[in-house]
Amino acid sequence: MRSNVPEIFGSMVFNDAIMRDKLPKDIYKSLKKTIEDGRDLDISIANAVAIAMKDWAIEKGATHYTHWFQPLTGITAEKHDSFISPQNDGRVIMEFSGKELIKGEPDASSFPSGGLRATFEARGYTAWDPTSYAFVKDGVLCIPTAFCSYGGEALDKKTPLLRSMETLNEQALRILRLFGNSSVKRVTTTVGPEQEYFLVDKDVYNKRKDLMYCGRTLYGAMAPKGQEMDDHYFGAILPRVQSYMEELNDELWKLGIMSKTEHNEVAPAQHEMAPIFDTANISIDHNQITMEIMKNVAKRHNMICLLHEKPFAGVNGSGKHNNWSMVTDEGVNLLEPGKSPHENAQFLLFLTAIIKGIDEYQDLMRVSIASAGNDHRLGASEAPPAIMSIFLGDDLEAILDCIENDTSYNKQGAGKMEIGVHVLPSFPKDTTDRNRTSPFAFTGNKFEFRSCGSSMSVSGPNTILNTIVAEELSKFADELEKADDFTDTLNELIKTTIKKHKRIIFNGDGYSKEWKEEAKKRGLLNLETTVDAMPAMLEKKNIDLFEKHNIYTALEIKSRYEINLDVYSKTLNIEAMTMSEMAKRQILPAVNEYIRELAKTLSLKMGTDTLFKNGMEKDLIKKLSVLEDKAYVQVNELDKLLLKVSAIEDNLECAKYYKDRIIPAMDKLRAYCDEMEINTADKYWPFPTYGDLLFSV
Ligand code: ADP
Ligand code: MG
Repeated sequence: MRSNVPEIFGSMVFNDAIMRDKLPKDIYKSLKKTIEDGRDLDISIANAVAIAMKDWAIEKGATHYTHWFQPLTGITAEKHDSFISPQNDGRVIMEFSGKELIKGEPDASSFPSGGLRATFEARGYTAWDPTSYAFVKDGVLCIPTAFCSYGGEALDKKTPLLRSMETLNEQALRILRLFGNSSVKRVTTTVGPEQEYFLVDKDVYNKRKDLMYCGRTLYGAMAPKGQEMDDHYFGAILPRVQSYMEELNDELWKLGIMSKTEHNEVAPAQHEMAPIFDTANISIDHNQITMEIMKNVAKRHNMICLLHEKPFAGVNGSGKHNNWSMVTDEGVNLLEPGKSPHENAQFLLFLTAIIKGIDEYQDLMRVSIASAGNDHRLGASEAPPAIMSIFLGDDLEAILDCIENDTSYNKQGAGKMEIGVHVLPSFPKDTTDRNRTSPFAFTGNKFEFRSCGSSMSVSGPNTILNTIVAEELSKFADELEKADDFTDTLNELIKTTIKKHKRIIFNGDGYSKEWKEEAKKRGLLNLETTVDAMPAMLEKKNIDLFEKHNIYTALEIKSRYEINLDVYSKTLNIEAMTMSEMAKRQILPAVNEYIRELAKTLSLKMGTDTLFKNGMEKDLIKKLSVLEDKAYVQVNELDKLLLKVSAIEDNLECAKYYKDRIIPAMDKLRAYCDEMEINTADKYWPFPTYGDLLFSV
């Protein structure tokens, strides 16, 4: 039975309606104003808000509160403090002050800082982000916060995102003013992340060390049935999954998360949840909570939710499509082609800013989605390639062609398309959404960045997007503000920008070999792996960009660079060690046992009749013994490489070693073991197979 949705929706959130209801009028007004202007909160207001928040939270069953933040690990962190305050007479009261609301000091020394926090200043502090509502989860009042060092450096993923939203707001406003809009006050970025995931049965999962330690399978021959029949995609949802999705939705709705669409994905056991879009920082907070709740609810259904980018070889991995746009406080979506020539000129200017930004900062876009897990997807003909490009759809591309070449737009029949004079034809939204192979696709009134990995926080990608678009808008505004003739300059600007940056536009099949060659001819970057991409972070043009817009200081960039490389290496280290352990302690002993069984049978048969001497046993013993030896040599080789890599100190060198030496060694070991799997009797194989896993639910 489904719950009463309007009743439960947002019931665990201290949202605007609750604040208006619970706070004294003047306090509510000041809080709203502070939020809108993005200023610091006055302590007297904070005290009043804290009391109302605590009382509300206690009503919802909370006993503790936490400053909920997003450290550079990519997951969320919380340290619970109880509201309990002891009194002289031995009793306790429940207390929560404004100071505790706006600032916290978690012992942060074990969160990664990439060298940002010198040892003499090991502490960081958290500060309330009042633009994202507090909520109660599992009996804890969670207060969304930013996490900084005492020197002011951002130690989290939220702070740079908020900074990037601010800079995009400023630059977009400059452009809107140039178009004569004097009433608009704010431009915010909107994000709607579509989340893919796998569900597997918990009992089956518990027998796989690779899934338990790494979140993905390191061994496993493909099952006879995979995704080739296309019978899972949008197929009927199984009852067990259906009841999971119902409970997931309830939990998300209670927290005000607008989970809207749910369906089966391409691979067996793969599903997707899409929320209704929201302001970027709220939407990203929500996505972080969503991932956590997806895992928790799965456990209650005796399942495990896998968020890894590539849990299984041979079937599709999981991504997170990041839908992105900009909206004014007057409700105008700046990426919606308009109905008047004036609106269209403005749309085209924003569009060309994005085209230029993606072209000039392809490297940063690639870096923003780089991780060991995502490397398995990108370029594997199931997800957009590592090459960045933009899909605009035929209609829009034809229009840009006309603008560039001063030719007429045929479909209209009329003369040439003049910006600010003619109206763009309306594009049917469904034709713009056909291309699934593009990393960055225009889908009618927003862009969809499809390269993001399923497990990652999309703070990084959105921070980059906001920043590069703000940068291009600022350059456009510089030029247009000093122009004598606005329309002429605008026309010229759009035209020359298209001419110069159209190489980034590609409407064809992004999975094809031809595109790789074509992209190379166009001079586009193809940074295939995380290790190839990461050094771009430290390029001067990129550091200059971040410093100019106050997104990251050079130091903050360097710290993220070091952390990303370190996480990459650590991930591979755990995977390689798990592979080694599974080979030595599970696979090789199991195959050995099977060989012994075969040998026993063989000798029994040989005793009876020589007719059997060329039989199955001999053949299998030979085959498996050869593979076993090879695997044994290979696992020792892998162990040796792991010993060597542990001596490398430089993060980049270390990551390179994993990529160039350890990954190939792992692949080789896997190949031998998978070959043994398909030749070993089921009852001897030491853990569940792909078939068991993919069809376990
Ligand atoms: P589909 O891709 O399934 O056709 P939509 O394109 O309508 O569905 O929406 C996909 C995702 O994009 C949803 O999460 C939706 O909320 C989000 N989205 C829609 N409009 C915007 C927008 N203006 N800004 C950001 N995200 C948006
Ligand atoms: Mg979509």
